[in-house]
Amino acid sequence: MKKSYLWQILAAFVLAIIVGLLLGERATYVQPLGDLFLRLIKFIIVPLILATIIIGVTNAGDMKKLSRLGGKTIAFYLATSVIAVAIGLVVAILVSPGTGVDVELKEENIPSVETQSVIDTLLNIIPTNPVESLATANVLQIIFFAIFLGIGITLVGDKARPVERFFHGLAEIMYKITGVVMTLVPLGIFGLLTPIVGQYGLDVLMPLMKLILAVLIASILHVAVIYSIALKTLGKMNPLHFFKGILPAATVAFTTCSSSGTLPVTMKNTQENLGVSKETTSFVLPLGATINMDGTAIYQGIAVVFTAQYFGTSLSLGQLVIVALVATLASIGAAGVPGAGMVMLTMTLAAVNLPLEAIALVAGIDRILDMIRTTVNIMGDAAASVVVEQSERNAEQIAA
Ligand code: ASP
Repeated sequence: MKKSYLWQILAAFVLAIIVGLLLGERATYVQPLGDLFLRLIKFIIVPLILATIIIGVTNAGDMKKLSRLGGKTIAFYLATSVIAVAIGLVVAILVSPGTGVDVELKEENIPSVETQSVIDTLLNIIPTNPVESLATANVLQIIFFAIFLGIGITLVGDKARPVERFFHGLAEIMYKITGVVMTLVPLGIFGLLTPIVGQYGLDVLMPLMKLILAVLIASILHVAVIYSIALKTLGKMNPLHFFKGILPAATVAFTTCSSSGTLPVTMKNTQENLGVSKETTSFVLPLGATINMDGTAIYQGIAVVFTAQYFGTSLSLGQLVIVALVATLASIGAAGVPGAGMVMLTMTLAAVNLPLEAIALVAGIDRILDMIRTTVNIMGDAAASVVVEQSERNAEQIAA
């Protein structure tokens, strides 16, 4: 990765903060630049996910390798998500973000949210019409469809080779387009971050500063301790090398608040800067962008403790265990789009009978929390790809 590129990203950050502070509310003028970038990365996602997952599955070759890859990926995702909620809960109990909060609950702020039962969420993964899934960019359904297409191609063999070659070509084309769009990352960061800096004055942030700090501390702990240990011991990679390599994707996640939107950049960074093979990234990353959300899990744990403290109730140990389980599920169920984690919070709050109105308290600053959690979310996906890749290498060495 060119040094000048990292500098451009850093410069965009600093410039966004300066211009945002200077322009205040008027900073929305630069929003079209951000929207331009967002639209460009969004248009890559559907064909990229479809093609890369199909290739990821056909590359695995046989069902045995595929289930090994899938098993490791899901195990890593689940383990890190549970650890993330636990860290969130502990930090929240220590920082106590919900005490002394000087914000009144206004009924009109309560966003209307629709939640689905766990069974419906699971059933919904299966598309009844895959073309509709592609048209509406339903990522989980696309992944399901792509995995089965890949398995189908593998089972059919020779007769399906032209289809395989087609998707191989499509995947390469999408990687190339991603490379071109990525040159605009600094512009996108400037366009997206400036209006946010302009919009959130200290008066909005100050009353909930302890909540923001708690999410920040827990996130830094999770990334710096858990990922570093996993990378060093399981991934055989220097964590500093990892953090430097994933920086562009992290900044895109921070500014877009969308794991799915950041996916093209996460894939490019993990392949080119962290040396993870396309075979691994094309399977592990699209799945991770949809189901692996450690940042969202951390946030859920903290937000529940925050709510309990705000309403002056306390949570028993049993309730904390329920929170850990439900928050993990909620983070899996949340889509990789802005604000999804807050919608899923209703599920976790309901599980321990806390008032759903609490959503109105955090809604005002959710964008800020979302920036932090999305950054952690994509880092978790990238760390998983490094760990899974190393473990696959070990498995191949043993087999050889
Ligand atoms: N915005 C997050 C993401 O895309 C999801 C969330 O809201 O927690 O990863």
